[in-house]
Amino acid sequence: MDPDLDQLLCSRYPTIFRDRHAPASRTAMCWGLCCDNGWYALIDTLCCEIQRRVDMTGVKPVVALQVKEKFGGLRFYASGGDEYTAGVIWLADHLSTMVCEECGAPGVQTGRGWIKTRCAAHEGEDLPLDRTVPHVEDDFVDDLRPVSPERLRAWELAREFRLPLVRTRGWRHIAHALEAVIRNDIRHNNLPGVVMHALDESEGLRFHWLGGDDRGRVAGMFRLAEAYASRCDRRTGKPRS
Ligand SMILES: [Zn+2]
Repeated sequence: MDPDLDQLLCSRYPTIFRDRHAPASRTAMCWGLCCDNGWYALIDTLCCEIQRRVDMTGVKPVVALQVKEKFGGLRFYASGGDEYTAGVIWLADHLSTMVCEECGAPGVQTGRGWIKTRCAAHEGEDLPLDRTVPHVEDDFVDDLRPVSPERLRAWELAREFRLPLVRTRGWRHIAHALEAVIRNDIRHNNLPGVVMHALDESEGLRFHWLGGDDRGRVAGMFRLAEAYASRCDRRTGKPRS
């Protein structure tokens, strides 16, 4: 990341980036934010939401240990926080695999061996936003070993979970990432089922939902999605500078 943007994040979130210039023997943050500028808005949104959570609730402060790109995705390793901040970080990491690391436009993971997330303008591919992004029927059928009734119920709940169709073109990749992480958490991480009852796109992206772990991890995910959408152009999905 360019030094001026790196510095801007450090000055905005002094606690999170407390160890930015600490010695390499103590932290990997001494190497800076090891990704390109296209993820700046995503990292800024992520830090803003976790700092707000810490300030409001008094949970243990979140301190970044390492921020880097790996296999085309953001890795934001941190100490402190709670389930809510873990949800914010978890969605941001997943969403980054649909955001061009160079410019922030919706993109896809490309390349073999050296995987990067890029849009068409940066030698990658645009994420198709005009049609509904097809649901990936992930690996629900690949494992036919006998499972317990509880596991089976979790699979069913995960399969049933769907977000309402987001009409705003530039927000669809955000909704797609959100749906995928919630389905994954229901299936693998014992997240109770989430029920959607409304979607409002008039002022900004607002989900109305019930269930999950209530105000914990899943609330952090919804909040990150809504906050990042507020920074993205409704047509292109690219963050406004
Ligand atoms: Zn790009």
